[in-house]
Amino acid sequence: MTTINPSECIFCRILNGRAPGSFVYQDDFTAAFMDIRQPVPYRVLVVPRAHVETVYDLDAAQAEALFRTTVQVARAVKAASGCEGLNLFQNNGPLAGQDVPHVHMHILPRYPGDALQPSLKSFAQAMGLPMPDRAELDRMAAELRASLA
Ligand SMILES: [Zn+2]
Repeated sequence: MTTINPSECIFCRILNGRAPGSFVYQDDFTAAFMDIRQPVPYRVLVVPRAHVETVYDLDAAQAEALFRTTVQVARAVKAASGCEGLNLFQNNGPLAGQDVPHVHMHILPRYPGDALQPSLKSFAQAMGLPMPDRAELDRMAAELRASLA
């Protein structure tokens, strides 16, 4: 895992006022700001204030706060944007497309006719990945349940 000095992290710099950020929400544990990349309007990032690199590194309180804030902001995005759908996602590690090593939730409103991949299925198709059938999905779900028990 890449370890970065928090003073060099662009999201830490935004959180500490050392880089510009258009904040949507702030509390003691989390903050939300507009994503500099807006493939569609109202795309927002939600981050923990602490420099935490991936979802694996969040403690329970950080995880709860991050998701609570994400839900609150998602409602606000939906109301503000008039979007007809909304994706929540986040990436862990460079192979998953994490380009800033500070865990962040993406709130991505969806609009009729937007050029983004409309679903995980079409993303997988675009990547040439076979979609698993129901039995395979059930097997994976059971495996995950067992590991959580
Ligand atoms: Zn950071």
